[in-house]
Amino acid sequence: MYRLTVKGIVQGVGFRPFVYRLARAMGLKGYVKNTGDGTVEILIDGDVEEFVERLKREKPPIAVVESVRVEEVKGEPPEGFVIEKSGGSRKELSLPPPDVATCNACLKELFDPKDRRYLYPFISCTDCGPRFSIAFRLPYDRENTTLVEFPFCDDCGKEYWNVDDRRYYAQSIACKRCGPDYELVLGNRIIKGLDGIIKAAKLIDSGEIVAVKGLGGYHIACVTDDEVVWKLRKILNRPQQPFALMARNIEAVKKVAKVNKEEEREMLSYIRPIAVLKKKSSSSFFAVAPKLDTIGIMLPYAPVHYVLFRFLKADFIVLTSANMPGEPMFIDDGVFSLPVDAVLRHNLKIANRVDDSVIKFVGNRRMIIRRSRGFVPKTFSLEVGLNAIALGAELYNSIAMLKDGKVVLSQY
Ligand SMILES: [Zn+2]
Ligand SMILES: [Zn+2]
Repeated sequence: MYRLTVKGIVQGVGFRPFVYRLARAMGLKGYVKNTGDGTVEILIDGDVEEFVERLKREKPPIAVVESVRVEEVKGEPPEGFVIEKSGGSRKELSLPPPDVATCNACLKELFDPKDRRYLYPFISCTDCGPRFSIAFRLPYDRENTTLVEFPFCDDCGKEYWNVDDRRYYAQSIACKRCGPDYELVLGNRIIKGLDGIIKAAKLIDSGEIVAVKGLGGYHIACVTDDEVVWKLRKILNRPQQPFALMARNIEAVKKVAKVNKEEEREMLSYIRPIAVLKKKSSSSFFAVAPKLDTIGIMLPYAPVHYVLFRFLKADFIVLTSANMPGEPMFIDDGVFSLPVDAVLRHNLKIANRVDDSVIKFVGNRRMIIRRSRGFVPKTFSLEVGLNAIALGAELYNSIAMLKDGKVVLSQY
């Protein structure tokens, strides 16, 4: 028998179900489990070389396998192959996975009127959904995320426990019956669920300014018309700083900005950052990015964005972080003090504030202007033989921790 210790981004990315299916396909006995230090432990009793080879080659799209340590061990393997409860002691640096944009399989269900998650803004699966933003403790298991407040209904439970289901062991799943939901606060009125999102889309189209709670914090949304954007600038006390846009799809982006192959690939990646692109006409989106020939655009990444665009007429909306200059993004941790026309909020707590990431290509090189959603809390290696902490500058900072040869950068 062999015990394998897999290091990398292997928790919360569908790695255990993948290992389970692989082991069963190869007819192996043993188990797989998450450990408390962020690694995955696997016990198998067969061809270890072929197993490791396929493990690396066929892994889930967002998993990163940094290393696999193989030890030979004595004893009897369990009957069949099982996923064991997480356990182990906490020794090494361990991190939850980053948040992942809605995958294509979930999008298909989101817009399928026959699906039980039709237009449900918290659709997710093993391959996509919130991760870092909902994890308040490790290991990354449902009981350690803010979704613990929403116990599964029978239907979700069936998916979660069915090894052949694409939501098998997906910690972030929920549905209309058991999961969180949105509501729109409009003056003294509260409009629940999908009706609230539809109303929010109507308000935005008609030039109102609406706060929208997302994965990692609140955004402010409005159309890109100059007079509406000037109104927003007054509210946020930001006379000049360019705002980011969210576009309906990549085709819409290409109509207003130059997008090369690499930029397109980044914009469509699971990170879905804001890409700073060259405007096709420097006078377009004047109030959004005054006197600039570039514009920051991102594509929808959370189900609520897709549902909003389904009901929006506009192909572009301003979507900027809801905070006063110098303050962090708002996440329900106080009174929402910005004078907006309506607030589209949901009842899932945000464990970690995560702003949108910003990238820009200089020549062929990708520069990360703001490293946040999708990038955090990924690590990189730096072998210098010391542990250290760096706290950055006074403004616009992120902190860095170096421990056991690994650097963890915080979100912006
Ligand atoms: Zn998905
Ligand atoms: Zn459910």
